[in-house]
Amino acid sequence: MPVSYSPREMISMPKVYENVLLAVHGGAGVLTREVVTPSIEQKYLLRLEAALKAGYQVLKSGKSSLDAVVAAIKVLENSPLFNAGKGAVFTHEGRIELDASIMDGSTGRAGAVACVTTIKNPITGARAVMERSPHVLLMGKGADRFARQVGLPVVEPSYFFTQRQWERLKKILREERQRGKAAPERQQKFGTVGAVARDIAGNLAAGTSTGGMLNKQFGRVGDSPIIGAGTYASNDTCAVSATGHGEYFMRCVTAYDIAALMKYAKLPLAQAAHQVIHQSLEQAGGKGGVITLDAHGNCAMPFNSEGMYRGCITADGTVAVAIFK
Ligand code: ASP
Repeated sequence: MPVSYSPREMISMPKVYENVLLAVHGGAGVLTREVVTPSIEQKYLLRLEAALKAGYQVLKSGKSSLDAVVAAIKVLENSPLFNAGKGAVFTHEGRIELDASIMDGSTGRAGAVACVTTIKNPITGARAVMERSPHVLLMGKGADRFARQVGLPVVEPSYFFTQRQWERLKKILREERQRGKAAPERQQKFGTVGAVARDIAGNLAAGTSTGGMLNKQFGRVGDSPIIGAGTYASNDTCAVSATGHGEYFMRCVTAYDIAALMKYAKLPLAQAAHQVIHQSLEQAGGKGGVITLDAHGNCAMPFNSEGMYRGCITADGTVAVAIFK
C-alpha cells in the first residue's frame, strides 16, 4: 500500500492508533522546529518508514514479534541518523558505548547488553543474552566476548564513528572548558531507537537500543538496557519502548509503570501511558516519551518533549510517521 503523508501535516496524529502491528521510535531529543528543514525531516521519516516496513515484512511472513522488533531496530541501528549502532553519541572520553534490551511478552524472558563496543547490532546481542545465556544483562568486555562466542557479527569500535557526533562532542567539551562546568543536559540530545510489535499469534515484544547520552561519564548506563525502565513487554498488558533522559526513566520505572497501571488499575493502554508520561515522569522532571502497543493492536505514543521521532504500521500496511506533536 502506498504511503501518503506530508511530514508537516502529520504533527496532529490522533492519540490512539488501532489495529497496529508494529511501532518504532527514533528518539525524543529532536532537532527544534526552527532548525529542522523539510529535507532533514524527510530523511528521518523515510528511515522510520523503512524500519516499519522491514518489521512488517517479517510479521507478514508469519515470524514472531521478537523477529520483527529486531528487524526494525537493525534498520535504525545501521543508519547514522540515530543515536544507536552506527552514528551513536560519544562518551566524555571519546568512546562509543552501546546499550540495548529486548523482552518477549509471551514468556516474560528478557535480555540486555550495556557498554558494549564491538557488537555491530547491539539489539542482536540483547536477544542472544535472552535466548542463549542464563542471564538477563551482560555488560562491557564480557558482553562483547559473549557476542563473539555465539557468532554475532562484530566490528571494530571505529565502525560506529560519525563525524557529526564527533563534532558534537568537541563542541560540548569546548563549552564545558569555557564555562568551567558540565554543559546543561538539554544539549545532550537523545536519539535512541526502539520498537514494539504484535505478531499473528498475538504475542507482544519490545526492544530498545542506544548510544546513551552524549558526553556521558564513568561507565554511565541509562534506562535503555534496564528491563522495566526503558523496555517492557507482557502479553497481558502491553509492550513499551522508552526514550528520553534515562535517569528519570529508571527512577520512575517508566515502562513497567504503564504495564502496572493496566494490570492493577485496569486502565486502558492510552490512558496508562498518558498518565505515566504526563504525570509521573513530568512531575519527576524527566523529558521524553514512549511507544506502547497492547495485544488488541491499540498503540499510543505520548511524549512530553518538543517532539519524538515515531511511527506505526497497521495490519493493512498503512504507515504513519511523525516528529512533532
Ligand atoms: N534513554 C537514553 C539514555 O538515557 C537516551 C535516549 O533515549 O535517547 O541512555
